[in-house]
Amino acid sequence: MNNWEKNVRKVVPYTPGEQPSDEKMIKLNTNENPYPPAPGVQKVLQEMDGRDLRLYPDPSIHVLTKAIADSYGLDTNQVFVGVGSDDVLAMSFLAFFNSDKPVLFPDITYSFYDVWADLFRIPYRCPELDEEFCICKEDYLVENGGIVIANPNAPTGVEMELSDLEEIISANPSSVVIVDEAYVDFGARSALGLIEKYDNLLVVQTFSKSRSLAGMRIGFACGNPTLIRYLLDVKYSINSYTMNSAAIAAGAEAMKDWDYFREHCEKIVVTREWTKEKLGELGFSFPDSSTNFIFAKHERVPAAELFAALRDAHIYVRHFDRPRISEYLRITIGTREQMETFIAFLEKYLSSKDHPEKSMEA
Ligand SMILES: *Cc1c(COP(=O)(O)O)cnc(C)c1O
Repeated sequence: MNNWEKNVRKVVPYTPGEQPSDEKMIKLNTNENPYPPAPGVQKVLQEMDGRDLRLYPDPSIHVLTKAIADSYGLDTNQVFVGVGSDDVLAMSFLAFFNSDKPVLFPDITYSFYDVWADLFRIPYRCPELDEEFCICKEDYLVENGGIVIANPNAPTGVEMELSDLEEIISANPSSVVIVDEAYVDFGARSALGLIEKYDNLLVVQTFSKSRSLAGMRIGFACGNPTLIRYLLDVKYSINSYTMNSAAIAAGAEAMKDWDYFREHCEKIVVTREWTKEKLGELGFSFPDSSTNFIFAKHERVPAAELFAALRDAHIYVRHFDRPRISEYLRITIGTREQMETFIAFLEKYLSSKDHPEKSMEA
């Protein structure tokens, strides 16, 4: 080891899902939206004048912050915008988790939380989900330095009752409770309505899934103006211009088109319910999902085998080789047509295992 290496801030980073360059692929591995963003996004990007890029963007991100605030009936001082919710969450960890007591989040959840905690030297503890992958609210009614709950949870897809979540928030007035609602738009109940009531609640959402803008990197947090002020202080201590001009303009357009948004979320929900039915018929079991993915396990065939077989057929899903979940595949909901191809492949693959005399090539 070099002399300087002992002073390096070492961290085991998060591993994002792969972005393969496979033209034939059906990509069901990173919970992206299969539909394009609202038409206004394309229009505003086309109308951008590249020469204007010589200017710094608006550091207050006003146009986008206002579009979000107006959409949810909030004031702009209750909204913080960042480079994807990953950026918003990282800044929130840095701003709000500064205690010697452990921050609490479930053992099975978004696997970026422990990475940020390690990076920022935040102590944490991970209460176990129950056998049905549900969060036990009692685990969060103890002393702590902060709480993070993804609702619905990832990668399980399981939604926690809003009343249980509210109990956790109200029982912890000395901690900031972050609710990560990356998937809330696919049929779950949002905690946004509680931010007026609880000054310790920060609700984080993203444009990456329900608004089809993963490539633009836009996320936001809503909370009491004092919480938002502290977040802005951290942001302005790292980088004044987090959001680029294109993202600000495109995000505002996406947020304004509620008809397009609702219609496409509904399509995904309908396709999800169809996929659940088909997966059930094929011998998969899964916790009920209120997200744009299904976390499923087959009754006989190991997840690693299915993952590899699907991949050979250019269908990408996600497999987490971790304790308690290594037998599950996380399957993003694509278009109806993509899911039909996915299900048809599974039907053929599973039946060729039951009747090996019939070749897969037949
Ligand atoms: C996708 C996801 C995020 C991050 O999304 P961004 O693309 O960074 O906005 C955050 N939390 C959970 C639970 C997610 O699944």
